[in-house]
Amino acid sequence: MIKKDGYSRARLGRIDTDHGSFSTPAFLPVGTQGSIKSLIPEELVHLGVEAILGNTYHLYLRPGHETIERLGGLHTFIHWEKPILTDSGGYQVFSLAKLRKISEEGATFQSHLDGSRHLLTPERVVEIQRALGSDIAMVLDECIPYPSSYEYVKTSTSLTTRWARRSLKNKRENDPALFAIVQGGMYRDLREDCAQRLVEMNFEGYAIGGLSVGEPKSLRREILEWTTPWLPENAPRYLMGVGTPEDILDGVMLGIDFFDCVLPTRNARNGMLFTTTGKISIKQAQYGDDGRPIDEHCSCYTCQHYSRAYLRHLYLANEILSSRLNTLHNLHFYMEWLRRIREAIREDRLLDFYKTYSSHRKEGEAERSAPCQA
Ligand SMILES: [Zn+2]
Repeated sequence: MIKKDGYSRARLGRIDTDHGSFSTPAFLPVGTQGSIKSLIPEELVHLGVEAILGNTYHLYLRPGHETIERLGGLHTFIHWEKPILTDSGGYQVFSLAKLRKISEEGATFQSHLDGSRHLLTPERVVEIQRALGSDIAMVLDECIPYPSSYEYVKTSTSLTTRWARRSLKNKRENDPALFAIVQGGMYRDLREDCAQRLVEMNFEGYAIGGLSVGEPKSLRREILEWTTPWLPENAPRYLMGVGTPEDILDGVMLGIDFFDCVLPTRNARNGMLFTTTGKISIKQAQYGDDGRPIDEHCSCYTCQHYSRAYLRHLYLANEILSSRLNTLHNLHFYMEWLRRIREAIREDRLLDFYKTYSSHRKEGEAERSAPCQA
């Protein structure tokens, strides 16, 4: 950690990995299938992306971690030389797979691609991420649906904690850094208990999981308020699958270091574009003759060269370039948002930044969180 904010729990830092370091607070774009859809790595670097996320579940099923390992590991395979975080696949088993069954041993499921049966155990998940050669690996956890009863969450969180211990036991010396995942649903004592047990095991970093599953934003803030004080100051903290620019700012204020979410890239492909004055849907008829860029304050490639009218035309004509130009803009917007947050922490004015921003966004307050993972 480089600096702590004096007025909130925000932290400025750098996370070191075998493939270089990245500045925090950070946003990691999601490369579900080993690609950030429609962009090449050089474009990501140009946008200021310093680390990306790969989905273990997808890469394990197709093309397979052993194939990727034989071809030199994920960095070589996808031509990305900077840090890669891989998730454990737990969320995708929960959200995509068919006929899943959770037992003490692990998660049995049927592939959503071909119906083949698989068993992911905590040990196997560490092995798969070792084969991929990722820089930061996540332990297997059970993703808890919302809402769930106290008894269910207690039993599930206890299993996730036992799985974390097994993951750590299977870790070898040159393995990726291993992060634990704090679960506990929406219950304060279960969150606190889970965090304490995981911290006792001494992981290299801690994620907060099981959020952005449909809970109200105010509840998510409370959970972060309860949980982050239990996490060690000197270890990175990762909020999984969150979120919108405002969710990220909230998370930073509550002590989170980095985030991932499919939102900027998925929204781009759906014609939803982020601007400094809110989101716009480029397909709307009002942009048909609009010669202005998406955002007059944006310095991205798309805004430097193209009008809303052209972007609307590309979208309606279903042109591949539509996805590319929209993704370039949305990721630029996210990277710029994080850069401004880091700058505000560095200059001791994060609270002012937050107040200025909050005064513009009261209307979104009651919104429920939307699932944000691949
Ligand atoms: Zn732009």
